[in-house]
Amino acid sequence: MDQDRYSRQLLFRKIGEEGQRRLMDSHVLVIGAGALGTGSAEILVRAGVGTLTILDRDYVEYSNLQRQQLYAESDAKGRIPKAVAARQRLSEINSEVDIRAHVMDATAEELRELAPDVDLMIDATDNFETRLVINDISQKYNVPWIYGACVGSYGISYMVIPGKTPCLNCLLNSVPLGGATCDTAGIIAPAVHMVVAYQAAEALKWLTGNHDALRGELVSFDVWTNQHTSIRVNRLKRSDCPSCGDRAAYPYLFQQPLSKAAVLCGRDTVQIRPPHRVERDLEQLAAMLSMQGGLVEANSFLVSFSLGEHRMVFFRDGRVLVHGTSDIAQAKSLYHRYLG
Ligand SMILES: [Zn+2]
Repeated sequence: MDQDRYSRQLLFRKIGEEGQRRLMDSHVLVIGAGALGTGSAEILVRAGVGTLTILDRDYVEYSNLQRQQLYAESDAKGRIPKAVAARQRLSEINSEVDIRAHVMDATAEELRELAPDVDLMIDATDNFETRLVINDISQKYNVPWIYGACVGSYGISYMVIPGKTPCLNCLLNSVPLGGATCDTAGIIAPAVHMVVAYQAAEALKWLTGNHDALRGELVSFDVWTNQHTSIRVNRLKRSDCPSCGDRAAYPYLFQQPLSKAAVLCGRDTVQIRPPHRVERDLEQLAAMLSMQGGLVEANSFLVSFSLGEHRMVFFRDGRVLVHGTSDIAQAKSLYHRYLG
């Protein structure tokens, strides 16, 4: 163990040598590499978590730089996938950590493959549909997860421990859960950092074995209006909950994965997934698109194709982002025009 690197954390008695060892034996899955994901990932990697897996479906854009702390202008200029850019920066920060990156959607199919190997999942997604999938995965594979969301100057966080706390589904109709709607109110960085601080603190407590110190409450705040609320929710656990109850059926694992086409939260963008997982030959695709007129730009992870007011970005895993529209029918017609 590099004593100097972690010396201040070792001095913190609640962690100490024993906690540090536990942390270094841990594997955390960070779902999403936007503002929340980059914040939590950086804290955990600096703290010396053993393995960190991070997944994200998107690439870095200039509008991310105001709050997504691992990215630089060169990532936006090169349209580097967030998971790839995050891994690069994280491994520069701490080369002792095994950092794994996946450019993919967080659907039930993907999470089923990743979750059984991890000790903890951190929610850094931007939509409630995915959180309910994470919640069911957490119950099915007995892996705790930490909910986090923010919009504007507001943030919320809550940790779900299977078999112990109410799950997200238990709380759905009982307490106001912010972040349930698409973000069109903008976001300021301090709200992000506050949620990250709550999530990462619970993560450190859990991973270092300090379970008595866990908050056990749902916390929400507004850093602009100066409100702060903690809700004790332990009595809201429902024995008939479809996700964590006596006869749990994990309903969100069996729904169509995020529909095949979906409008991305708060953006003028539609994502289209192919019916089955494919591995797209990006070079061949770039060559085909360059014969269609329009501007083709490619890197080793994606191909961007601009024509008129629309821009389409094709990923290796078969997904396409259609920018410049939030109309699914129009996005599909563009998709089929170029991919048949
Ligand atoms: Zn439940």
